[in-house]
Amino acid sequence: MSVDLGLSDEQRLIAESARQFCDREIVPRARDNDRAGRFDRELAGKLGEVGYLGAPVAEEYGGRGLDYIGYGLVVEAVGRADSSARTVVSVQTSLVCGSIEQWGSEEQKREWLPRLCSGEALGCFALTEPDTGSDAANLRTRATKTDGGWSISGNKMWISMGNVADVALVFAQTDPERKHKGLACFLVPTANEGYSSQEIHGKLGLRASDTAEISLDEIEVPDSAMLGEVGDGFKIAMTALDKGRYSVAAGCVGICDGCVEASVAYATERKQFDVPIASFQLVQELIADMIVRRDAARMLVWRAGHLKDAGEPSTIETSIAKLYATESAVECANAAIQVHGGSGYVDDYPVERYLRDARVTTLYEGTSQIHKLIIGRDATGINAMTPPAPS
Ligand SMILES: Cc1cc2nc3c(=O)[nH]c(=O)nc-3n(C[C@H](O)[C@H](O)[C@H](O)COP(=O)(O)OP(=O)(O)OC[C@H]3O[C@@H](n4cnc5c(N)ncnc54)[C@H](O)[C@@H]3O)c2cc1C
Repeated sequence: MSVDLGLSDEQRLIAESARQFCDREIVPRARDNDRAGRFDRELAGKLGEVGYLGAPVAEEYGGRGLDYIGYGLVVEAVGRADSSARTVVSVQTSLVCGSIEQWGSEEQKREWLPRLCSGEALGCFALTEPDTGSDAANLRTRATKTDGGWSISGNKMWISMGNVADVALVFAQTDPERKHKGLACFLVPTANEGYSSQEIHGKLGLRASDTAEISLDEIEVPDSAMLGEVGDGFKIAMTALDKGRYSVAAGCVGICDGCVEASVAYATERKQFDVPIASFQLVQELIADMIVRRDAARMLVWRAGHLKDAGEPSTIETSIAKLYATESAVECANAAIQVHGGSGYVDDYPVERYLRDARVTTLYEGTSQIHKLIIGRDATGINAMTPPAPS
């Protein structure tokens, strides 16, 4: 790692051991899993064994109690190896475990966190719906009060790990009149009657990541399945996404780093006009631009991580890091293919997978447009996200 401003010895060790683990356990499987479009459950178990699922969760609940910088370093290493594996880490750790740890009752934490952190159980985060993406408060899934519980019905779309999860965090509307103040979040065991899911095929990238369309048909859950209270649903979703965006950004630094590494190796080996192509200034320019983006993205991630570790507000800094790191991952992967010439277009090298996998990161956990609007709103005090009401 060429930039390590302010890393402690322990954090450096975490980064080194994460890289070794990823080179040993993830890299050798990545291409085959991608080709087969296979969700690697065994690998998810190994990620749990080594403590990478729920790394920032407190040790008393089965996590490793890492700080956010340490967690970011782990995610960066996994992202460099394979974004499909990184998706397991990000969803399980930031969206699912993070929400349960922050919002759950003691009973909910004891029931789910140790199993999720160890990888024995998997979780998914079911917010998006067929008609509700960026406008996340506008959910159609309904939760209706019953005697001693709730009945949940609706459809969820694009849910990572929705076919393989044991528990789903389901966001639903309890009272449409109350708009986002009526939203609630439920811990729904996927074995419950009424939960069914279908795999979404034909993705550009993240082919070894499971993505599901979920149908919720009058699922009965007790009152104790609610995370937080009625009305907390939107806050739970936003605090989860704040952690998730940090994780996606860190994973994208890993993609940028992998692009630099693969491009330097290739450019110093491959000869044209009797010299290594690295001798050409235009090839060096491609590599230099990747390095600048990687280092800038990494520093933005670390800034957000430092703020989180200090318990200070970090929503805007996380948006900035997510926007810049995800767009940089796409740029770096595209440039890395250019360095590799025709060889970059096939999966003998990781760079074409980097590009296909990076592409989704500017779409999920807030599209790049949504992040620009968050940053712009903070700077100007004007909300440009929702159109003005018709006069
Ligand atoms: C592989 C994959 C995995 C995913 N995993 C999960 C998951 O685990 N859980 C989950 O809940 N969701 C998940 N998602 C869903 C993801 O978060 C949404 O796709 C994302 O929020 C965008 O919503 P949308 O696709 O409905 O696009 P839309 O919201 O319909 O956006 C379409 C376009 O319109 C633009 N747009 C929308 N509103 C505005 C605005 N106000 N101003 C300017 N432009 C705007 C967007 O930027 C975009 O360019 C996943 C998606 C994918 C593809």
